[in-house]
Amino acid sequence: MKTIVIIAAGGSGSRMNAGINKVLLPLCGKTVLRRSMEAFAVHADRMVVTARPEDMEAVRREIESAPLPFPVVVAEGGASRQESVLNGLRAADCEPADVVMVHDGARCMADADMIERVLGSCLRSGSGVPVLPVTDTIKECGADGTVLRTPDRSVLFKAQTPQAFRYRELLEASEQAARDGFTATDDASVMEHAGFPVHTVEGSPRNIKLTSREDLMEAQRMIEQQVPVFRVGHGYDVHRLVPDRKLVLCGVDIPWEMGLLGHSDADVALHALMDAMLGAAALGDIGQHFPDTDPAYRGISSILLLKETNRIIREKGYSVVNADITIAAQKPKLLPHIPDMRKNVAAALGCPVDSVSVKATTTEKLGFEGRMEGISAQAVCLIQGTASVSSD
Ligand code: MG
Repeated sequence: MKTIVIIAAGGSGSRMNAGINKVLLPLCGKTVLRRSMEAFAVHADRMVVTARPEDMEAVRREIESAPLPFPVVVAEGGASRQESVLNGLRAADCEPADVVMVHDGARCMADADMIERVLGSCLRSGSGVPVLPVTDTIKECGADGTVLRTPDRSVLFKAQTPQAFRYRELLEASEQAARDGFTATDDASVMEHAGFPVHTVEGSPRNIKLTSREDLMEAQRMIEQQVPVFRVGHGYDVHRLVPDRKLVLCGVDIPWEMGLLGHSDADVALHALMDAMLGAAALGDIGQHFPDTDPAYRGISSILLLKETNRIIREKGYSVVNADITIAAQKPKLLPHIPDMRKNVAAALGCPVDSVSVKATTTEKLGFEGRMEGISAQAVCLIQGTASVSSD
């Protein structure tokens, strides 16, 4: 099962008077769209951005301007949001069991906790829609402005996005809505129309939809209250060299007559890096997270453990800025393998290759590395998170 995110970015932003699609507007150094995409860094396996034909080139350029930790495709939007989402669902290349989250491109302040609630609800019961209670009294008015009715506020809620559904069910409901000529302003309505139950979870007051200049300024104020936090970590690991084991370093199989002994694939370089990442976040060490007494980790590729470590620090709001790994081995020659090692690590972390450095050194035949009894590795890693500072 995979989680696919569809970002509806087809709005014209006419209420912004900006002359361009509002999702392409800059907001504190990044576009609104990039912020919306990055909100799913931990949870998306794939993403589809739907855009108007005249915006597709600009949206594509924005996606290509910096790497994201998941693949993204652009699909042409339709005449309405609903049609755009249907196009996105068809372009998403999903399996029936996959979960789809549909998100407004203009809601760039969605936070990981809320996304987790939405996903959790979908996994439990097939749907998850974030809502907030209505605090104003709502009036239903006639064309002349006269109040017709005052609905009971206690049962009214405002729906936000992302809204999560089972792919097969949302596709079925969207196709039925298209056949019936049923139009709606969110995907939950489309599901209701088709008779699927829709479950709600608590939304977030910060998760505003940017429709006016005032909203943009409000988002800017919220972002400026977050100050970046940088933390550094260090990791060190040693594994014994033995015959009849594969030598795996930074996920690269290196042909040699000896390999490293260990419970997993004994990738000493990645173990040092994972300890540096966990150390930077003060989240213990890999022994605590992946105990070598657990049969689940026997022979496991450490690249999978690195991805899991990355998920653990991202869950705490951190991402890797850069990492520098030094491998100490008398033999074999590691230099030809370094480009692949850097690529593997960058792919697992979802960061650019130039954020990952791998170096190899001999120890001039000194010590256990020099006697080829073992290989050691050290790593340092910088991670970045944000902390909210109160305005008062
Ligand atoms: Mg180890």
